[in-house]
Amino acid sequence: MTTSDLPVEHLHVRRHNLSLVLRMLATQGPRSRASLAAATGLTRATVSSLTSELIGLGLVRERGLDAGRRRGRPGTLLELDGSRVVTIGVELNVGFIAVLGRDLGGRQVYDHRVVVDTDAAGDELRRVDGVIHALSGELVDAIERIEQDGRRVAGVTVAVPGVVDVDHGEVRIAPNLGWQHVPILARLRPSVPARIELDLENESNLGAVAEQRAGALAGTANLVYVLAERGVGGGIVVAGTLLRGASGAAGEIGHMTMQPAGAVRCGCGSLGCWETLIGLPAVLRRTLPDRADALLADHALDLREQVGIVAAAAKAGDEVALAGLRDVAEWVGLGIANLIDIFDPDAVVLAGTLHDLGDLILPDVVASAERSSLPSALDHCRIEVSTLGFSAAALGGAIQAAERLFSDPSLVAG
Ligand SMILES: [Zn+2]
Repeated sequence: MTTSDLPVEHLHVRRHNLSLVLRMLATQGPRSRASLAAATGLTRATVSSLTSELIGLGLVRERGLDAGRRRGRPGTLLELDGSRVVTIGVELNVGFIAVLGRDLGGRQVYDHRVVVDTDAAGDELRRVDGVIHALSGELVDAIERIEQDGRRVAGVTVAVPGVVDVDHGEVRIAPNLGWQHVPILARLRPSVPARIELDLENESNLGAVAEQRAGALAGTANLVYVLAERGVGGGIVVAGTLLRGASGAAGEIGHMTMQPAGAVRCGCGSLGCWETLIGLPAVLRRTLPDRADALLADHALDLREQVGIVAAAAKAGDEVALAGLRDVAEWVGLGIANLIDIFDPDAVVLAGTLHDLGDLILPDVVASAERSSLPSALDHCRIEVSTLGFSAAALGGAIQAAERLFSDPSLVAG
């Protein structure tokens, strides 16, 4: 019997048990059916039926006899077969699309990044159409290439830099893309086979998921992820769980008001948001005042190239660039001090442009945060540069899609 044959009232019990067995094999390594039954409290007949289904789905495989067993007939060991099922994270951002495929064993099997003109001239409708066309092309291409090798894509999470309605797959507002109320998943659905789950999430939330699960800080229970690009976003993990808030918009730390009398209006409409002080336009204007406007208007340059020009100027000893970076570091540290006082995290992770400027600004950022936060909170909080770099949101998307499969392995059947 497979999950799909069951009456509705038994479905959730079966799903829960499939998930329990799969997670046990993933986190604790190979086990026999008897050992799984003992550890889960399920009957051996139930475990046998569950493992048959997981084997049929390509999620579990048999691997030899349990040599460690001392008494009785040795049982066959079962292990996670992570190699045949892949999940994808897609990041849509200002100027680029990144697609990352990862198998359930955690191996990266696909990584592709393309420059896309998200600022193209014309009305919003046509601009959104153009970007969605490019996005669906990249996604279809990735699925085809991954499945060419006999693997199967079972889930996709799309990351965007904005406030998203996760339940309806809609981008509510993405100021730096100039998007409002775009039902992005409904627009992508016709291009993606119906058997593949599609989900949407905020890019910073996914960056936080990636840091919490796969980066140098993996397993950190309380973590604040600060992602600076053109805008600034955040992902906040509290006791191992992503903080979503009442409407799913928690973590919009770029719009903390830091300088209410400031002169720069934010993309959100307010004055003095943190992102007007530490986002890429602010970094360029403070460090390369003569070239900032031209660099910002140059759509052939992506974000990393632009920030690379800043880093090169600072490393070459350009006094204006160095002073500008000290100002940026001061504001980054002040914002972090607020976040530390509110969330009392174990770690604050700097990502995006702050990652690329990390070695130039980190000591000043830490000094600024130390001056402005409560000493008791800062004592145990590390402020670190991300080890995942710019691919964190796509990686977090692939991890989140895999997490859904671990919660409901029957999704793999499509
Ligand atoms: Zn704002």
